[in-house]
Amino acid sequence: MLYTNAEQAAPAIAACVKNKRHILLITHVNPDGDAVGSLLGLGLYWEQCGYEVTMLAPTPLPIFTQRLRSADRIKVYSQAPVYSNTLTLPETVDLVVLVDTGDVQRIARIYQEQQAYLAARPLIIIDHHATNSGEGLINLVDPSRSSNCELLYELLKAWAAQITPEIATALLMGITTDTQSFKTSNTTPSALRAAADLVEAGADRALIMRDVYSNIPFETAKLLSLALSELKREGAIAWTHVTQVMQRSVGASDDAAAEVTDYIANLGGLKATALFKERRDGSVKVSLRSVPGIDVAAVAQRFGGGGHRQAAGATLQGPLVEAEQQLLAVLKAAVEEAPDA
Ligand code: AMP
Ligand code: MN
Ligand code: MN
Repeated sequence: MLYTNAEQAAPAIAACVKNKRHILLITHVNPDGDAVGSLLGLGLYWEQCGYEVTMLAPTPLPIFTQRLRSADRIKVYSQAPVYSNTLTLPETVDLVVLVDTGDVQRIARIYQEQQAYLAARPLIIIDHHATNSGEGLINLVDPSRSSNCELLYELLKAWAAQITPEIATALLMGITTDTQSFKTSNTTPSALRAAADLVEAGADRALIMRDVYSNIPFETAKLLSLALSELKREGAIAWTHVTQVMQRSVGASDDAAAEVTDYIANLGGLKATALFKERRDGSVKVSLRSVPGIDVAAVAQRFGGGGHRQAAGATLQGPLVEAEQQLLAVLKAAVEEAPDA
């Protein structure tokens, strides 16, 4: 069943959850603020209702989310538990819920290694990606929402849920980061209202601002300077890259490249930007951003990726130079086809 509206989905999701005992919440690989906020926002609520809840990310959390209270409740998946914060999938789980995950394959190794486990349990998907294919038993997919956290807020409201300051902080983190602090075109009246309601419910806005925006690691700044020195422009498109050599030379973390994506997306006079990030395995992650009127989700989909019309991503085969050429050709065509954007 596919719902595109939280109010309509609320009774069905509540009915499915009602007779369950142990809920496993999973989000996408390389989780962002919206992914972490979604795990905590919904996870803490269900815990409050008396369910056993396991919150799981396929890979470690970004630094800026780690000081959120309860962020240490989120475990990182491991096929066999290695460190105290890693976890394999508990047998007692009787419901799996994917949040902020546009495609089941975006849970990466969990999808590849746990097919039988996942197939044996009902699946609920709650997401805001237009490219979501809706593979759950119940799917709530509302692409009009700025963030999955905004959608979850609507769902909690429909359930008349008690929103604690901790839940409010988690949800506000997702709305703030997915709208790039209320700058993107999906910053709708509803997103702003949700944020206002969450601040009223006790969300720690100051903590989010400090951790997300005033906490950039020194090494990330050095990586930004290297990436910006390689910035290129052709017409209304600008792009640059981050290689493994660049990353290692300054000791930057894997998620540091996101700062480059954000920086170039804010340049004026452009219609689309691309950051090409060389991964350890030689594959290339591209992060695309665009102005309204240019659909970069469609560009990403041509390469097996997805996302939103104005912010999308995909993984390409290396080497870097070839990945850049292939993607830029498609991106240029998309920009040329929309001269009025
Ligand atoms: P990013 O460029 O990683 O910040 O991602 C921008 C948006 O595109 C996010 O909503 C992601 O969930 C989505 N996205 C990024 N990479 C992929 C991918 N390989 N497949 C599907 N969606 C993606
Ligand atoms: Mn996300
Ligand atoms: Mn999101």
